[in-house]
Amino acid sequence: MFDLSGKVAVVTGGNGGIGLGMARGLASAGATIVIAARNLKKSQAAIADLASHGASASAILVDVTQEASVSALFSATLERCGRLDVLVNNAGINIRHPAHELSLAEWHTVIDTNLTSAFMCAKAAYPIFKRGGGGKIINIGSMMSIFGASFAPAYAASKGGIVQLTRSLASAWARDNIQANAVLPGWIDTDLTRDAREQVPGLHENVLRRTPAARWGVINDLSGIAVFLASPASDFITGAAIPVDGGYSIQG
Ligand code: NDP
Repeated sequence: MFDLSGKVAVVTGGNGGIGLGMARGLASAGATIVIAARNLKKSQAAIADLASHGASASAILVDVTQEASVSALFSATLERCGRLDVLVNNAGINIRHPAHELSLAEWHTVIDTNLTSAFMCAKAAYPIFKRGGGGKIINIGSMMSIFGASFAPAYAASKGGIVQLTRSLASAWARDNIQANAVLPGWIDTDLTRDAREQVPGLHENVLRRTPAARWGVINDLSGIAVFLASPASDFITGAAIPVDGGYSIQG
């Protein structure tokens, strides 16, 4: 039910953090991984990490904000791997300022990287999935898909948008046997949140206090949900937004 042998998964931003945690899960279930990110050195390290567990992985450099680069990613994946079964839209950034201090350029940068990228990648993957008889899309949201964020309005807007994009793709493509779901991670220890801990006073303590599991997540906490949503086990689940948050979102 959870076997991904013979399947090919593209993970955007899979060269570190949550993307790498998900890639590890997918690889452990037998999938071939394409790490799609900008930083070659980080991507090479991620491939070595996956290979050390016996996985087949390679990197394709992409800037997910550029349509031509996204299009080249999917052509290169087909050329290299011959198929595509799973797309994880994980690449993301944050720029932390309250709305009155956020420039329009910063707004666009965050929306382009976190939301428009997922639309472009899903659109590029669609004809390949359709030809292959189906596919799985896993979009990465956030607790800020649910809650507002006074210090990150563009990020929260992008992550709210990810949930609605996911539902729209799910309803449009269900008959093509394509399932699209969103994962909403809680507070996970990565490069992204290491910056936040430095920039947002009290964040670390608040996360510990508010999370019922009483800890930050680690990237391997995301491995299992990736396998589930990429595998036949989730074939009748589509359009869902699933928190992986140690209970953060259900704490009053
Ligand atoms: P990281 O900074 O570790 O990972 C982000 C990844 O996105 C990097 O690997 C980076 O690759 C890639 N990336 C950024 N911009 C681009 C771009 N233009 N083109 C291609 N790749 C790009 O952070 P996380 O692992 O924490 O974040 C991963 C996802 O999880 C994001 O969508 C984030 O919003 C989300 N998330 C994280 C949470 C957390 O607590 N950490 C909580 C909720 C959601 P490269 O360096 O090569 O550019």
